[in-house]
Amino acid sequence: MEISDILIDWYGKNKRDLPWREVSDPYIIWISEIILQQTRVVQGKDYFLRFAERFPDIQSLAEAHEDEVLKYWEGLGYYSRARNLHATARRIMEQYGGKFPTEYKEVLSLKGIGEYTAAAIVSFVWDQPYPVVDGNVFRVLSRLFALDTPIDTGKGKKEYTELATSIMNPGKAGLHNQAIMEFGALQCTPQNPNCMFCPLQSKCMGYASGSPLFFPVKQNKTKTRNRYFYYLHITYRGRTWLNRRSNKDIWKSLYEFPLIETEIPVDFIQLQEKENFRQLLKEAGKLSISVELSDVKHVLSHQILYATFYKIEIEKIPASLQSCIEISNDAINEYAVPRLLRIYLEK
Ligand code: SF4
Repeated sequence: MEISDILIDWYGKNKRDLPWREVSDPYIIWISEIILQQTRVVQGKDYFLRFAERFPDIQSLAEAHEDEVLKYWEGLGYYSRARNLHATARRIMEQYGGKFPTEYKEVLSLKGIGEYTAAAIVSFVWDQPYPVVDGNVFRVLSRLFALDTPIDTGKGKKEYTELATSIMNPGKAGLHNQAIMEFGALQCTPQNPNCMFCPLQSKCMGYASGSPLFFPVKQNKTKTRNRYFYYLHITYRGRTWLNRRSNKDIWKSLYEFPLIETEIPVDFIQLQEKENFRQLLKEAGKLSISVELSDVKHVLSHQILYATFYKIEIEKIPASLQSCIEISNDAINEYAVPRLLRIYLEK
C-alpha cells in the first residue's frame, strides 16, 4: 500500500470524534483551523463550540462588534487571529456576497489565512489537492524520510511542501490531509512516537535510523526578549480605569489597567519616579498602595513578560485618567482582557 492509503486507513480506525469533522461548511473549517493554531485540541474544542454557537455563520460574525468577538476569544491568546477572522468575515460579506470563495488563491488572499489554512479549507471542503504542512506534518514527513533540512527555514518549508504534495493521493486530498495531521497528533507524537505499533514502521527511515526523535531538525534562530510590565489597578469608590491596547504589539484591542513598561526590573520607588507614573497620578492625592501580585512570569512566543500588579487607592480622580475608560470594578468581567490580567483578577 502507498503511504497515503496507509494513513487514510489508519485515520478511519483511529480519528477522534471532533465537532468540526465531517463538516462541509468552509466557514466552520476556517474558524476551527484558526482556533487550533497555537491551541491544543482539548482547550480549543470548548472555544470552538462557544464561538460557533454565537457566530454560526459568516454574516453573524461580520455583524458583531469587535469587542464581543475578542471577548469570545479571551484566554486563547494570539488575538490577531480573532481580529483577522472578524475583518475577513466582513470582507467576505462585502466582496463575495457572504459566500466563502472557493479558489485557493482567493482564499489565501484573505487576511489571517496563510498557506496552511487555505490548503486545509479547500482540501477538506472541495478535495482540492493542496497539502497542509503544519507542525504535525513536518514531524511525520521528517521522520518518514529522515529529512534533516531545518523546518524553520525557507528551504525546509519548500522541500516539505513538495514532499507533502508528492505523497498525497490527489483524488482524496481532504482525507489524506486530515489523516496525516491526526497521525502526527496521535501516533507519531513529538516525544513518544508509537513506533512499535505503527503501520508505517517498515517504510519509516527515521525509525530505521534508530533515532526517530532526532527529527525534525530546527535551526532555532529566534531570540526571546524579556519585558517588565507594571500594572496599576487604580481604584476610587468602587471605580477603576482601563485602557484599550492600540499599538502594533501583543494584545491589540484588548483591555488592561494603566501599564508602565520598563526594559529592566524596577522596584516601586523607581517606578514612582518614572515620568508616566508621575503624570498619571500626581493629582490623585494621597495614594494607598499594595502589591497584589509580583513578578508573574508569562511566556509568549519570542517574549517573556514579568508582571507586577499594584492596587492603588486614590484620594481624588486626576484629570489624567480622562484618557482611560472609567468603569465600576464589577464590570471588568465584561471586557476582553489578556490572560495575564485574568490571572490577576481570579486571584
Ligand atoms: S515508525 Fe515511529 S517515527 Fe516512524 S512514522 Fe511511525 S511513529 Fe513515526
